[in-house]
Amino acid sequence: MTATDRIKTYLQQIGPWPANTVSLMGIGPGDPGLLCVKALLRLADADVLLYDMGRQPSQLARLTKPDAVHLCVGRTDHRPRIQSADRVKLIKPHLDRGRRVAILKSGDPMVFNRGEQDARALAAAGIAFEIIPAPTAALAAAAYAGIPVTDRKRIDAVSLAIGKADPDPQMIPPDLPALTRSGTLAVYMAEDNIAGLVERLSRGGLEADTPLAVVENATRPTQRVIRTSLGRLIDTAKSADLHKPAIIFIGSAADACPDIRWLEARPLAGQRILVTRPAHQAASLVGQLAALGADVLEAPTLGIEPLSDSDPQYDAFMHALRALNTYDYLIVTSANAIDALRAHTHDVRALAGPRLAVIGTATLARFRELHLTPEIVPQEFTSQALARCLEQQGLKNRRCLLLRSDIADTRLPDALRGFGAEVDDVIAYRAVCPESLPQPALTALHAGHVDWATFTSPSAFKNFLTLLGPTATGVLPFLKLASLGPRTTATIRKAGYAVEVEAQNHTSAGLADAIAEQSGS
Ligand code: SAH
Repeated sequence: MTATDRIKTYLQQIGPWPANTVSLMGIGPGDPGLLCVKALLRLADADVLLYDMGRQPSQLARLTKPDAVHLCVGRTDHRPRIQSADRVKLIKPHLDRGRRVAILKSGDPMVFNRGEQDARALAAAGIAFEIIPAPTAALAAAAYAGIPVTDRKRIDAVSLAIGKADPDPQMIPPDLPALTRSGTLAVYMAEDNIAGLVERLSRGGLEADTPLAVVENATRPTQRVIRTSLGRLIDTAKSADLHKPAIIFIGSAADACPDIRWLEARPLAGQRILVTRPAHQAASLVGQLAALGADVLEAPTLGIEPLSDSDPQYDAFMHALRALNTYDYLIVTSANAIDALRAHTHDVRALAGPRLAVIGTATLARFRELHLTPEIVPQEFTSQALARCLEQQGLKNRRCLLLRSDIADTRLPDALRGFGAEVDDVIAYRAVCPESLPQPALTALHAGHVDWATFTSPSAFKNFLTLLGPTATGVLPFLKLASLGPRTTATIRKAGYAVEVEAQNHTSAGLADAIAEQSGS
């Protein structure tokens, strides 16, 4: 059994979503890896998602259904949070239509998030629900910052408290100094009330040298850990330009523990890296870079579109597919061609005739997913290498079907014809330039806040230049450019820009490693 098969079996034992049941879940503090597996399953199945936050968390985009309904019910800049009773009114018609509804909370749903109010409102309306926990910000921050909130030799208790300026008047404010004296205190929601918090703790008798650690953006690639003391907190927050969200740890746990810090040691920590791959193909490179600690910004510069039946090339493509078994070789140079093939081929035996030839690890992997093992895989991923490999198998008068994009060049078919082959070079999909770069990427690029940009094909780079337009000359000199292979490198150099690294191994992992190596040198 492969790891994927074992994971599938493991997930099966969790069982399906109980009928007519709202799932009230936490999604953790930011790192997509901190979602619990039951929440993962629910998110993949949900028809309606209520976000108890200002906007939809981007890290879930690849998990939720493309046609799911997304509703933001948390507080935004323009309106207060939608109350629990009104949420139930929003949910009810969806449940009546048999749709599966999830309510998402940051961190854990039962910690400072009014999960209990939503649960009570659902119960009052007679709606069944389940509650799925997730790491709460303080405990996740402790793990990611190496802060031992309990310590076998020193600390036996840990408290979670709210530190905002305007607590609910009906509540008795917690005795924060007493909580600090009895263990570790983690304060939530104090970002806008630092001076008030310091005043409260000092008035309660805590010394100015009481150690304090602030963890901003915990578990995200932008995480910062700021160590200071009660007496210096106000100045430190100002000089470090502290922002939301942050947890403040007070007490001896907040003392520096250099021996259990680990996040900063990752080779790409602190590097912001642009990924320009098409959105549906970016996940593996995004993951490889994130695992090395990078802050990844996605800015697809290439879109892949299937041919529609009104496309002038559609008939030629369909004709080639019907005649697949009459070819000696089927040659593909991108996983996109296999996806196009799959969309129209429902029986894998249609591919039984031709021998299969590929360029690229991802292309090979996509065939393998279909339990097809290409016979011809050149060592080097270039057109010339593939043509030479095929030539050794005999190309004279052999019929080759090439399935490629509308922007592919003629090098490969020319080389094959040069060896005497008959070549049908057929367009299987379109590679289009998107209308613009996403706003967060544009802002970061223009502010000079991007360290690296990665390019995995010549067209990804050409489109990047097109999308930047006249501003390219102001942006590119401040970016280090990383290329997947020789063709991309040649395109970048031809445009007059330097390539900082080229992957030796032309895969996502190879590209991420090459950047890490260069960053460390
Ligand atoms: N239910 C959430 C807490 C929501 S209250 C949980 O269990 O984590 C919002 C507060 O949580 C913020 O003001 C901040 O103090 C803290 N917080 C949330 N996400 C955080 C993060 N990634 N890093 C640091 N603090 C975070």
